[in-house]
Amino acid sequence: MADTLFVSEFRSACEHAGCPFCAMSRRRTRRYLGSLLHEYTLAPDIHESLAASVGFCARHALLLRQVSLAEQGDGLGVGVLYETVVERLVERIGSAIARLDRSGGPEEAAAALTPEGECLACAHERRDEQYDQSLFLEDLTAHGCEGPLGSLYAASAGACVPHLRRLLAARPRGPVARWLLEHGRRGFQVLSERLRDEVEAHAVHGAAVRPRANGEAWGLVLVLCAGDAHGPAVFATPTQGR
Ligand SMILES: [Zn+2]
Ligand SMILES: [Zn+2]
Repeated sequence: MADTLFVSEFRSACEHAGCPFCAMSRRRTRRYLGSLLHEYTLAPDIHESLAASVGFCARHALLLRQVSLAEQGDGLGVGVLYETVVERLVERIGSAIARLDRSGGPEEAAAALTPEGECLACAHERRDEQYDQSLFLEDLTAHGCEGPLGSLYAASAGACVPHLRRLLAARPRGPVARWLLEHGRRGFQVLSERLRDEVEAHAVHGAAVRPRANGEAWGLVLVLCAGDAHGPAVFATPTQGR
């Protein structure tokens, strides 16, 4: 059974245009990166994990930069977090040079630079997503698609394609899977009509009528096809449905 905090966060995620699971994920990952910056910059295990993975992956490195600037106003926390990463990189590159000198070839040298662990934020994000999805599916199974979370989801833009696939991969019961797919089909049908209207309006009125990115169909279709958990929120203004 989903607790009050989860229901409240899910409600908030459903009130924004775009996939609610992406919104949940984005919020949780930002919170996680913020906690690293505020509480764990000196934690030895975090330093070891980051050194093994050669820091964060590209998308989380960019997100960490944003969080650091937004919450701390500078990159000091990032600098402390990455101290061991950089020290270890100097050693790794030394190993690469040694391999090259032993005539191992550039491929062997490159292997010395290969990360030995997953990006911490990717691993954290995946666990959070599995938790969110399992609570959502449990609620649909226990209370039906008209239950608390089902009702919130029904009024939302619905899951993006990657999250819809992951929900189905969790093997929900047949009626739940069908309900999710029907909601998805209906949403994309509406989106298809809205896209046509926008293109026609643009053709009739010319470039002077430029669709706004915030909640317009062309912006929505981009994030609902690809998912939008990893960047800044595309839609600043809460907008329900499609
Ligand atoms: Zn999504
Ligand atoms: Zn990552």
